[in-house]
Amino acid sequence: MRVFVDRDLCYGSAECAHRAPAVFDFVDGFGVVRPGREETGEETGEDPSVLEAVEKCPSQAISITQAPPPAPDRP
Ligand code: SF4
Repeated sequence: MRVFVDRDLCYGSAECAHRAPAVFDFVDGFGVVRPGREETGEETGEDPSVLEAVEKCPSQAISITQAPPPAPDRP
């Protein structure tokens, strides 16, 4: 599984970084997935703190999916 933060939806509450600091960080005013933690695997996907971060994100910017994250927009 993959965890992904949609920066277009994130408004920088930093709650994800507080709830699951091993997976999320707060950089330049946005929640981000820490490098190397994008691929959560079964273990992290079942980590209650990650699932709570997904559930409690006030802008619903975090998703956990089976598919790869969307490709970045290209100019
Ligand atoms: S909890 Fe949601 S809105 Fe807040 S920083 Fe994290 S991704 Fe952004």
